[in-house]
Amino acid sequence: MPKALILFSGGQDSTTCLAWALERFDHVETVGFTYGQRHLIEMDCRPTVLRGMRALTPLWDSRLGEDHVIDLSVLGQISDTALTSEAAITYSAEGLPNTFVPGRNLIFLTFAAALAYRRGITDIVGGMCETDYSGYPDCRDATITALNQAINLGMARSFTLHTPLMWIDKAATWRLAAELGGQPLVDLIIADTHSCYLGERGIHHASGHGCGTCPACSLRAAGHQRFVADD
Ligand code: ZN
Repeated sequence: MPKALILFSGGQDSTTCLAWALERFDHVETVGFTYGQRHLIEMDCRPTVLRGMRALTPLWDSRLGEDHVIDLSVLGQISDTALTSEAAITYSAEGLPNTFVPGRNLIFLTFAAALAYRRGITDIVGGMCETDYSGYPDCRDATITALNQAINLGMARSFTLHTPLMWIDKAATWRLAAELGGQPLVDLIIADTHSCYLGERGIHHASGHGCGTCPACSLRAAGHQRFVADD
């Protein structure tokens, strides 16, 4: 069974992807990126979530390997968005939130592939999603497919980029977590993962901590409501 490397931010989506990978691969490593995020709360959540994942099942504990953190703070030099400065979140004429760091996923996946190359890993998993993608063009399936080809050509390896959330919405992402890890995984995601763009932890809503009103909190909460209603 090949090994997998997961792009792991400490949020709901990448935690669900991590569970997905832990069910499928014998050895799973994680990678996170710091890039001058406005708040580093996401990065602070990562070790807590990883400890929680280990505690959920002995199988996952045995499969979960090294966690890597790569400093991409240079991205802050070419980004002036709500994630990296103190501006409010607004939307452009194309519908792109100003939290958009241009090409961020291209950069993350390319660095992940370079790391995977060094680690002898061929399968890379990311939480990109076209269904709820908020207009981020680097989350589209066509982008990921093209990048997969470019990376394979450029590194002379056969990597497979997996995006298990590509065609599902946030309610289905909650459902997938329930299928993979039952209520204990859903509870862990609610308690310990972070999605809020504003980096707020204080307020605890039904779907977890966050400001409750930014686009990330709204998406997460609406998905959670539909998931609970359907359950
Ligand atoms: Zn929020």
